[in-house]
Amino acid sequence: LTNFPYNKVLVLGLAKSGEAAAQLLYDSGIDFRINDRLPLEENETAKRFTEMGCDVITGKHPLTVLNDIDLVVKNPGIPYDNPIIQEALNRDLPVITEVELSYPLVEGPLIAITGSNGKTTTTTLIFELLQAGGFNPLIAGNIGNVASEVLREQKKDQPVVMELSSFQLKGTKTFKPDYAILLNLTEAHLDYHHSMEDYINSKLKIFQNQTNEDVAILNQLDSLTSSQQIPGNGKRVYFSVINDSDSEIMLNEDDQIQYRGDKLMSKNEVALPGNHNLENVLASIAIAKSFHISDEVIIEKLRTFIGVKHRLQFVERLNERLFYNDSKATNIQATSKAVRSFERPIVLIAGGLDRGNEFDELFDSFNNVTNCIVYGESKDKLYEAGKRKGFKQITITDSLVEATKKAYELSKPGDIILLSPACASWDQFPSFEARGDMFIETVHKLK
Ligand code: ADP
Repeated sequence: LTNFPYNKVLVLGLAKSGEAAAQLLYDSGIDFRINDRLPLEENETAKRFTEMGCDVITGKHPLTVLNDIDLVVKNPGIPYDNPIIQEALNRDLPVITEVELSYPLVEGPLIAITGSNGKTTTTTLIFELLQAGGFNPLIAGNIGNVASEVLREQKKDQPVVMELSSFQLKGTKTFKPDYAILLNLTEAHLDYHHSMEDYINSKLKIFQNQTNEDVAILNQLDSLTSSQQIPGNGKRVYFSVINDSDSEIMLNEDDQIQYRGDKLMSKNEVALPGNHNLENVLASIAIAKSFHISDEVIIEKLRTFIGVKHRLQFVERLNERLFYNDSKATNIQATSKAVRSFERPIVLIAGGLDRGNEFDELFDSFNNVTNCIVYGESKDKLYEAGKRKGFKQITITDSLVEATKKAYELSKPGDIILLSPACASWDQFPSFEARGDMFIETVHKLK
């Protein structure tokens, strides 16, 4: 970082992004203080920075950590009602996230992706399209690669594809992607944002600094998106999963994907299942076309890209049943999309952490679901919601393994057996990845 305008930075929270932010400040010779909840004895990262001679305060969050500070870089997960953040805001100190801190490092085209659902899939697809098109892209952000670490490796003109959450975007000020995608908006993370307005405004910050040389890619059909005033001056490019004359990229009546009026390929040739994934595909085509990647290369990639692990991932065909792992579906919206993605009968496995929500709405999407096997902390709530909605084929089990076996037992040849839990995994698993892996392992053992 050069020409840095602040004298002393507080790095609040040392998870992956805090560690990277501190390292960037250290390597840039900028004065900073670290404050992290975990006591020093258990805190390897804090120990490392202490040994490097840095100002580190651990185990407590006294307001004095703000003394002499003129910028706060906070971990995206720390809520704004945290007393230190509150006090910093009272003092009019800028509070930013690591993506904003590292933004000045950007040396090439920046493609940023946000939305309530589909971010990781779209980020990965765009990354792979750029690769197939002969670019040498980098992938960064919410997907697990901390922005500053990636950007420090970036060569001039190398494109960066960056997945951004609303938490990261809320802490941006000057961040300006050349291409910004907002896939969709549904109610999410209200525990953090407190209001839908704050959540939406955080997402819209992806566009705020765009000039007329930049591009804002938007979902014409997403009702919440289309009712927003899009900030910034980026050129608007719309995509639409139905025929729509205002959309540059759309699906026409014959199920052909069309770009600026020209047919590209049939929807049926796209390997990713489900209409929701088509949103991700159309948005990705907008980028591929902007980078002048040839139709042949785009078509080939879309015919072969089967998605990201744990997102409607095809697992196995066993006795004419098709198993899919959608462990990443941690809310009702994602599971509703998943069960609408198949035209065959579905045996659904759902359940997990009880976040206090009701599940009635989920059953509205159950046209093709013939059986639902529930497990986990939320199993009784799912069962009750099903009963209220007149869906009777629900079986309660105790574990994912038992639920998977039960699903197989109740299925018929030609059925889809789908894990799409509509809940977070933390009641029984450390992560949605571990949950998905357990499902895959159980399916393989059914043989
Ligand atoms: P994110 O990174 O935004 O969480 P993912 O690509 O990891 O999105 O997908 C998360 C879940 O949402 C998966 O269960 C997937 O099937 C579903 N999903 C993916 N794309 C969309 C979309 N465009 N609209 C709604 N749901 C989607």
